[in-house]
Amino acid sequence: MTAFAELAYLVAAVFFIIGLKWLSSPKTARKGNALASVGMLIAIVVTLLDQDIIGFTDIFIGLIIGGAAGTLLAKTIKMTAMPQMVALLNGFGGGASVLVASAEFLRLSAVGGVPIDVGVSVQFSILVGAVTFSGSLIAFGKLQELVSGRAVTYPLQKPLNAVLLLGILFVAFYLVAAEPGAGLAESLSGIFGQGVTTPLMMLIVLSLVLGVLSVIPIGGADMPVVISLLNSYSGIAAASTGFVIDNNGLIISGALVGASGIILTMIMCKAMNRSLGNVLFGAFGAGAGTAGPATVEGVVGGTYRQISPEDAAIMMAYARAVVVVPGYGLAVSQAQHTVRELATILESRDVDVKYAIHPVAGRMPGHMNVLLAEADVPYDQLWEMERINPELEHTDVALGIGANDVVNPAARNNAASPIYGMPILEVDKANQVIVLKRSMNPGFAGIDNELFYGQNTAMLFGDAKASLTKLVAAVKEA
Ligand code: NDP
Repeated sequence: MTAFAELAYLVAAVFFIIGLKWLSSPKTARKGNALASVGMLIAIVVTLLDQDIIGFTDIFIGLIIGGAAGTLLAKTIKMTAMPQMVALLNGFGGGASVLVASAEFLRLSAVGGVPIDVGVSVQFSILVGAVTFSGSLIAFGKLQELVSGRAVTYPLQKPLNAVLLLGILFVAFYLVAAEPGAGLAESLSGIFGQGVTTPLMMLIVLSLVLGVLSVIPIGGADMPVVISLLNSYSGIAAASTGFVIDNNGLIISGALVGASGIILTMIMCKAMNRSLGNVLFGAFGAGAGTAGPATVEGVVGGTYRQISPEDAAIMMAYARAVVVVPGYGLAVSQAQHTVRELATILESRDVDVKYAIHPVAGRMPGHMNVLLAEADVPYDQLWEMERINPELEHTDVALGIGANDVVNPAARNNAASPIYGMPILEVDKANQVIVLKRSMNPGFAGIDNELFYGQNTAMLFGDAKASLTKLVAAVKEA
């Protein structure tokens, strides 16, 4: 590797790190994304040129095809389908690591032996990369409802997975330790044959099976957490592959993805008050038939109050403080621009408007921030959960828009609830609560919500965008 290439990798790494830093705030996220993309472009072009793998023409053709596919996906994919898209991208990352590590292993084996450190890195890349690939495809299938979103469980599941992992480790050990034609290789030639191709294929296939079996017992509701974890795996596999082919750019970028993926995973677990072990092995959602809720647990029942858009508009137009609480339904109905319009009209009437952001509102981290940023809602109006909760009891009207689980008081009051202990937005403490949703149906966790039956709560049924449009018109009249 030339000094120029090493220097270019350093520049790319700096771009990645600054890009990640900028991505952590909505104000700078776009800049961060662009900078990290430029870093990736530098790393790819320098690698291809430096290794003399292919010429400019091929690089250019690859850029056009990859860029076109990326642009098409970015433009057409719905915001609500972003977790599936990320799952696919992670899967491709893992698959690429398997291919690169395997190719290098076969090449080195053919020219007379693989150093032990490279051998270990190869096996590790293949194991983690293949688990990431097949696990991500299952995660994609669950969210896209191509396969059942139900947590698939069967007797002895964990012990069987452990046996499979031991088998994989044995094959990996064989590939690293067996001297061709002697000792271990001779005595196991009945299983692995001559050469490394058969055990290598076995390692890949068994790891792919492990990926599938590890993800099927996880319910659709936990998929975004699993995708974030698989994202981390894809980074770890890439970093390990970087050691295989001695590429510092890959080691650095893989390590960054691995670390940021695991940090995000832990943030999501914390926001749901679940341990990672509970997400991976707890089979949350085993009873649900799809990626969404199929059964309503803990039915609260009772009577609820309905309100007309006109009455809701009067409550808000004469309030001093309104807190908008967006949830998944805002994303489904794409009501971000209409809510912004409502807020602007309320502000022109001297109403103080804030937005309460729960860390797992919607279906992916930062989902609400992205939506509201799209509608140019000022960042300083977005209040995180810890900050807004003490404000809610002094709020005249809390306006829930397609938010359900993240405002469910059962998380606080009902020890038997599956979401007990999850930190929530304490919307029930506001003076008045108006809830915009289409029905009394539950949210993602599949549980009833006592907030909707509260004395200070009024339900405004209908698609969120349609209801907000009526509210805008009614506030103008009020
Ligand atoms: P929920 O899934 O709890 O509720 C969304 C509500 O939106 C539903 O009750 C639905 O009711 C309503 N809705 C759907 N479409 C529309 C529409 N067009 N107009 C109006 N309302 C609509 O969403 P929350 O955001 O409150 O909670 C997120 C859930 O996702 C939590 O359980 C969280 O743990 C989970 N989760 C989130 C992750 C993340 O990273 N954000 C990751 C993993 C899990 P109705 O059908 O009656 O309209």
